[in-house]
Amino acid sequence: MRNTHRAWIFLANLAVLLSFRVALSDIPAKEDSGAPPPVTEAELVRFHGHLGPFVVLGAKMGELAIGQHHIPRYFGLTVEVQGPISPPRSCLVDGLQWATGATMGKGNIRQTPSEEIRVHFRRDDTGAGITVRLSAEATELLKAWEAESVEVEDRGRRLLSIPAAELFKVDIRP
Ligand SMILES: [Zn+2]
Repeated sequence: MRNTHRAWIFLANLAVLLSFRVALSDIPAKEDSGAPPPVTEAELVRFHGHLGPFVVLGAKMGELAIGQHHIPRYFGLTVEVQGPISPPRSCLVDGLQWATGATMGKGNIRQTPSEEIRVHFRRDDTGAGITVRLSAEATELLKAWEAESVEVEDRGRRLLSIPAAELFKVDIRP
């Protein structure tokens, strides 16, 4: 009688273990969507040397393009940056390179001078892509922080915590 009881406990435990294993194997292998892990202050400082609003904006634009708009990372994409070509606003280009893997060395990121910031991300295979601009809210924030002389690092940190949807206007080009 006792042995039967033990056998049942053993079988029950085995069933739990097996179902756990089945459950584990049901979890699909993490699909490589090409999306980089979310941008962090440490990563940007390591790459760019300091944290500022424009390197953060560039990184967040790049993340948005890669993570939500099917732009591939490193290869097979072209990034055209229109914007001021001197710092601090040109720091945007470093954020873009960090997030997209499109680099000056590979020649798949280009910059043309312009007063207004506008970034075109394109898939090389289909030509589809997006154009990203700063939202009116983002522009207002930058102006306000400038007027209040908020520290540059602090501006960057604040932007890191604001969702991309609030910072950017996106036009999709099929
Ligand atoms: Zn900078």
